[in-house]
Amino acid sequence: MKEESDETSVLDKGIFSDFKCPICDEYMSEPIFICQNGHSICENCKAKFVVCSICQASLEGGRNFALEKMANIVICPCKYEDSGCKFVGKPKAIIIHQKNCNFKKYNCPLQEYTSCRWEGMIKDQPRHVLDGHQNEARLTFKSNLQYDLRLLKSFAILIHEENVIVMRCLFDRKSTEPFYWSFQHIGLDKDGRSPYKVEIEFVDQTKSNRKLITNGSCYGMVEDYNEFKVSVIIPQFMLEPFIDANNNLTVKYDVQKY
Ligand SMILES: [Zn+2]
Ligand SMILES: [Zn+2]
Ligand SMILES: [Zn+2]
Ligand SMILES: [Zn+2]
Repeated sequence: MKEESDETSVLDKGIFSDFKCPICDEYMSEPIFICQNGHSICENCKAKFVVCSICQASLEGGRNFALEKMANIVICPCKYEDSGCKFVGKPKAIIIHQKNCNFKKYNCPLQEYTSCRWEGMIKDQPRHVLDGHQNEARLTFKSNLQYDLRLLKSFAILIHEENVIVMRCLFDRKSTEPFYWSFQHIGLDKDGRSPYKVEIEFVDQTKSNRKLITNGSCYGMVEDYNEFKVSVIIPQFMLEPFIDANNNLTVKYDVQKY
């Protein structure tokens, strides 16, 4: 009995792989294209490549109508099945589901700054940052911080209980670009909204008691960590009085619930 079910799952795996594009390894649904030697290729890859990546033949082989028909019948597992996802569906439904699957693997939210190679589920990100990045700048939700503006970008990890917010900043003193801050509450589901907002107060360096306070929201999930999602943006000239002779900017920030 057990042998039989093992055999079935091997067989099924073989079938499902026929519905995966050999170039990008994603499920294919109508329209499915073929190279002149018969390799099936998804719509995205067909648009990206001129020749088949497997055999170098032209991709002008037309459509694979037989496979398209079967793709309307066959039920396949989500590609994150091994991580625990139980979703099954036709390739078209799977493609949509996988974009938002909670078992999807993401890179470390700090990979750009630390070249960390970690990959895992959204819900495991806070634990990873707490345990795996103990040597990075770690602050509480209410702190004072001095930025060295000779650096173009910096980041810090803001921690309150089990909540982890990654703060990133972009400064370019050689340009007239504004300064950008990004606060990302990590570990939230794809559509999860952070219950936190942030207040940043700039500390006057000219002793004339000027005050500048600004607000922004913390956001949740991002697809791509190279994308810089802005929470706070301030024109550089407004910050000049707050920058000292050594190019340092001192801020007080306060992350609070709405
Ligand atoms: Zn493809
Ligand atoms: Zn080919
Ligand atoms: Zn899934
Ligand atoms: Zn990491």
